[in-house]
Amino acid sequence: MLSSNSPKLSIVVPVYNEAANLDVLYTALTNVLQEIGRSYELIFVDDGSSDGTFEVIRSLHKINENVRGYSFSRNFGHQTALFAGLAKSRGELVISMDGDMQHPPEMIPALLSKYEEGFDIVNTKRLDAKGTGFFKKLTSKWYYKIINALSDVPIEPAAADFRLMNRKSVNALNSLPEAHRFTRGLVGWMGFKQAIVPYQAAPRHAGASKYTFFKMLRFGLDGIVSFSVKPLRIAFYTGFMVSIASLLYAIYAVVQHLIGSTVEGWTSILVSVLFIGGVTLLSLGVIGEYIARIFNEVRRRPMYFFKDEVGEHINESIKE
Ligand code: UDP
Ligand code: MG
Repeated sequence: MLSSNSPKLSIVVPVYNEAANLDVLYTALTNVLQEIGRSYELIFVDDGSSDGTFEVIRSLHKINENVRGYSFSRNFGHQTALFAGLAKSRGELVISMDGDMQHPPEMIPALLSKYEEGFDIVNTKRLDAKGTGFFKKLTSKWYYKIINALSDVPIEPAAADFRLMNRKSVNALNSLPEAHRFTRGLVGWMGFKQAIVPYQAAPRHAGASKYTFFKMLRFGLDGIVSFSVKPLRIAFYTGFMVSIASLLYAIYAVVQHLIGSTVEGWTSILVSVLFIGGVTLLSLGVIGEYIARIFNEVRRRPMYFFKDEVGEHINESIKE
C-alpha cells in the first residue's frame, strides 16, 4: 500500500445535534480510511449541540486516539464550525464533509485519486440529493442563478462543502481575515488548481436538516453580499432611472399646467409616491446589508469560542 511518510489526512466534520449519526459516520469513515492506509486525524467540531453530540465524540476518542473534538460555546453556524475545523487540522491533505452521511465516505478514494492527478483543491458537485425536498432544490437552483449573475466569482451550482484541499490551499483559506465565511465562494476566489468531482448525494441518515429557512436565507445573503457589490449598483441605477422618469413627468405636468389643462392627479401622485418610497426603502435595505457587514467585520470579535476539546495534544509533544 502507501508508504508511511505519505501525507497525513485530516477529515473535518462540523456537527450540530448529530449524535444519532456519529457512530454510523465513524464506522463508515474508519473503514474507508483503513483501506486508504494513510495516517489520519478525524476532527469533529461540535457547533453548540444540545443532544449529547460531544459526549459521542468523547467516546469515539476513547476508542480511537485519532479522533479529535472541539466544542463551541454556542451555535455559531456551519461555516464557522467548518472554519474552526480547518484551522485545527494538521494534515497535509484535508477533507471537509457533513456529519449526516449525505457526503458519502466512499467518495474519499475518488477525491484522493483526483488529487493525485495534480490538483490543489478537489471540489464536489451534488448529482441528485435523494430525499431533498422540492422546495430546497428549487430555491437552491434559483439562488445559484442569482448569485452567479451578481458575483464576479463563479460559484458552481450544487457545490457542497465536501472537498479535499492540500495544506497550501488550506493555509491560504485560513489566512483570509473575514468573519463571515461563504466557504464555497472563497475557495473559488482563491484560485489554485481546482478540480470538481460529481457525487451521488445520499439522504440524511438520521434527524432533519439543521438549516432552517432563515439560516438558509442568511447563508444566501452572506454569499451575495460577500461576493458582489452589484446590489448597490442596481440600487443606484434604479434610483437614477426613477429620477429621470420623475423629471420627465414633472416637465410634462408643468407644460400641461402652462397650456391651461392641469393634469388630474390623485392616482398618479399616489402611485409615484408609493413607487419611489418602495425603491428608496429597498435601496436603504441593500445599503444596510453592506453596512451591517462592515460593522460585523470592524468589531473584530473572535469568530467562535471553544468550551471543550478532546485529543488536542495527541501526536504533539506538548504535555498537559
Ligand atoms: N451544521 C452545523 N451548524 C449549524 C447547522 C448545520 O455545524 O448551525 C452542520 C450539520 O451538523 C451537518 C452540516 O453542517 O454536518 C450540514 O448541515 P445539514 O445537513 O443540516 O444541511 P443540509 O445538508 O440540509 O444542507
Ligand atoms: Mg445534510
